[in-house]
Parts: sequence; C-alpha cells; structure tokens
Amino acid sequence: MSKTSEEHSLLVLENYIGGKFVSCRSYIDSYDPSTGEVYCKVPHSGKEEVDAAVAAAKEAFPEWSARSPEQRAKILHKLADLIEANLEEFAQAESKDQGKTITAARTVDIPRAAYNFRFFSTSMLHHTTDCSPMDHMGCLNYTVRCPVGVAGLISPWNLPLYLLTWKIAPAIAAGNTVVAKPSEMTSVTAWMLCKLIQQAGVPPGVVNIVFGSGPRAGDALVSHPEVPLISFTGSTATAQRITERSAPYCKKLSLELGGKNPAIIFADADLDQCIETTVRSSFLNQGEICLCTSRIYVERSIYSEFLERFVAAAKKWKTGVPSDPSSKNGALISKEHLEKVRSYIALAKSEGGIIHCGEGLDQLDLPEHNKSGYFMPTTVITGISDSSRVMQEEIFGPVTCISPFDTEDEAVARGNGVRYGLSATVWSKDVGKVHRVAQRLQAGLVWTNCWLVKSITIKH
Ligand code: NAD
Repeated sequence: MSKTSEEHSLLVLENYIGGKFVSCRSYIDSYDPSTGEVYCKVPHSGKEEVDAAVAAAKEAFPEWSARSPEQRAKILHKLADLIEANLEEFAQAESKDQGKTITAARTVDIPRAAYNFRFFSTSMLHHTTDCSPMDHMGCLNYTVRCPVGVAGLISPWNLPLYLLTWKIAPAIAAGNTVVAKPSEMTSVTAWMLCKLIQQAGVPPGVVNIVFGSGPRAGDALVSHPEVPLISFTGSTATAQRITERSAPYCKKLSLELGGKNPAIIFADADLDQCIETTVRSSFLNQGEICLCTSRIYVERSIYSEFLERFVAAAKKWKTGVPSDPSSKNGALISKEHLEKVRSYIALAKSEGGIIHCGEGLDQLDLPEHNKSGYFMPTTVITGISDSSRVMQEEIFGPVTCISPFDTEDEAVARGNGVRYGLSATVWSKDVGKVHRVAQRLQAGLVWTNCWLVKSITIKH
C-alpha cells in the first residue's frame, strides 16, 4: 500500500534489539501535545519483540557482567558526554514529544539524564559492603552484591529521558543487561538515546529498547520468565497489575509510584520564599511530577494573606507554547489526560469548591496553530473537604488545593490522610517544629523550607 504524503513526513521509530534498529509490524500514533497533531509512529511491539530483546540481553549478560566496574564506567561516561554534546537536539525532541517547555527540557530533563550515567558509573566504583563478626567462631559474615541478569525497565511519560536513564544507568553500571520499555506517549528521546548507546560502545544486547503500549509490550516484559527483575515507575494502578503478573515468578520488584503531596505551612514561615517555592512545587512541568504539591495546608492566622499572594503568583506562572522561553508551563501530555484533569475541577465546583484562577476563568493566549493543543492554565481551588476525591486522588496536572488548619496535630493528621506517601514539604522557621512535623509525616521524602533539592539541583 502506498503511503500518503502526511505519512511520509512522520517520524517512524524502530526498536533497538541486539545492537540493531529493527522495524515492527504495527505502529501506534504519537501526538505533539502542543498542537494535537500526530507527528510520530511508535512500534506497537508485543511478545515477539520482547522475546527477541530478552534473548539478546541474556546473550550479552555473561560478557558484560564479567567486565570490571571501571570498564563499564568508561562507557557510561562516554554516553553522558554524548548526551551533553547533543543536549539541544534532545531538549527540542523532549519538548515536542511531551509538551513541556523547552526550558524545562534543556535545564532539567536532559542534563539530569546525562548526570544519571555519570552518577551511577562512579558510585559503582566506591561500593562498600557491611560485615558482621561472628565473634564466638572467629568468622565474618559479609554481603556480596551481584548483577541479577536481565532487568526489565518500564518508565512513564512525565520526565521521559530522565526517568528512563535513572533505570538504565544503575542497572548496566552494576553489570546487568536490560530490556527497557518507555511510555508509548513519549518514546522519541529513548530512540535517540539508542544511537548514542551504539556510538558510546555499549556492546550489542546490553541495552535493548522495545517500544509499545503497557498492556502489550509492558505486559510481555513483566511476565517474561527470564527477566528476574522489574523496575517500574508509573501509576499505582499499573503497579498493582505488574505485581500480580510478576508474582508467579517471584521477581524482584522496584516500584516508584504516585503522590498526593502535602505542603504544611506554619505562620512563622518565610512567606516570600515559601510562596515562590510552593507555586513552583505545585505547577512545575504542568504539575506532572510525582513530587508536585497538590494539597496546601496553611495555618489559619496567615491563611488569607497566603491565599491572596499565592493566587497572584499562580496567575503569573505563564502557560504557553513550549518553545517560548517566557512560558513556565507547556501542554499536558494528552487529550485524555487534559479531560481527566478538567473533570476534577468540575467535581470540585459541584462540591462547592471555589476556583480562584485558571480553568474556566483565565483564557490562554495561544497562536492559531496551538489552539488544539492540550493546554490548561494553572488552577487554584479552596473550600474542598479532605474526603473529596479532589483531595484524595492524584490529579497530576496544574491544579492545587489550599485549606486552613488550626493546630500542628491537625496539620499532621490531614497531611497523612491519603493513601499516598511519596513526599511532603514543611515550612517554618522553628527548627524544633520542622523536625517534629517532618518525622510525623508518613512520606518517603520530606523537604523543609525548600522543594526538589536533590544531589544535582537545577533551577528553573
Ligand atoms: P502508567 O502507570 O500509566 O504508565 C507507566 C508505564 O507503564 C508506561 O510505560 C506504560 O506503558 C506502562 N504500563 C501500563 N500498563 C502496563 C501493564 N499492564 N504492564 C506493564 N506496563 C504497563 O503511568 P503514567 O501515566 O505513564 O505516569 C504517570 C504516573 O507515574 C503518575 O502516577 C506519577 O505519579 C507516576 N510517577 C512516579 C514517579 C516516582 O518516582 N515515584 C516518577 C514519575 C512519575
């Protein structure tokens, strides 16, 4: 069948298996979120492609795992150098594929992806091991860490290259070989990475990337008997499915999931710093970061002032075309996701919530070409009960809810009152209070008087 001229201009990706680019029988459409147009075709891989990738990874494992950490580190450094050398090309592609601003891609996603390779290659050189003396016998117990074989890596769409490399880098630095499946909605930078993997001298089969949907390619990987380890980042619902599917094989599982992260703001907080940071923590990357703040609890004595200043600052957080350097937010990932996020705002309204800015109130000034893109203005809601689905479920968009509290105990209880426990922030100048509250919050990560401060902090 001959192709239309439109099909000719589309970017068509290929799987990367055993060091070779391989086409697929069928393809999935991938959309540019800023225009709503199909711009890329992603392989719709299934069991056949996953089987081939696992076989390649298995074959490559003995040689790769036998190399010294130094030998592997040299290759990983080269890969980091190559990503940095191609930073602008990657940033452009990531922004087009995901809808995020070019600035975010250029300053956060891509530098971090390069850093992931540097970080894990060097960390493997300095591994130590715990040892416990068995004093009555004169013997020592110690632990030896070994690669496990073929690692199956599944990543989401919100920080595509950053989170994919966060999985590939530690797995191969430790001597495993991998089969990775990026999100079908954001596959382009992973495909570009394959070319650099070749150039960096990663041996064929060490990194295999199979593109496709979760239920098809993802499921084939998760239920493959020769993949003993699955590392997954994504939604809690998918993690439940993966846990069930991998259970018969007793696989090692690493699951990084969603959040409904609270910010607890006491009256003695530095409000200038707190408002600036909390606007950022609520809306960065269109609110599509698992660590974004989505529930803000403010001590009642400063509540009115906080709300007024927060809404004013949120309105200045510009949503616009991703390529515009003045845009702070770009487009949401998909039409379905935009509708889902909007549905929570409709629900909030139906429950008597007040919308202070954003959806339904503020018009976006978008060029004609972007009018069908999945844009949504930053939205602030108050007056919603903690038991509402708006306060309980992960919305994963540029939406945050604000509510007053009276006592420290109340703030902690409400902060903990969701089924998620990913992260939280606490704002106060009282050091004792900050430590006390942070310890009582049931979150894996608590930032105090800051947000998203990590080993490499990139200001955006
Ligand atoms: P998702 O769970 O829908 O998809 C994630 C990945 O899983 C995709 O590659 C998808 O194709 C695959 N998948 C889907 N169904 C599958 C199945 N049945 N078997 C195997 N794989 C399957 O998540 P998403 O919408 O892509 O990402 C957003 C979610 O990720 C949010 O919940 C967010 O909080 C979370 N997230 C968490 C972290 C973290 O580090 N904790 C980081 C980023 C995103």
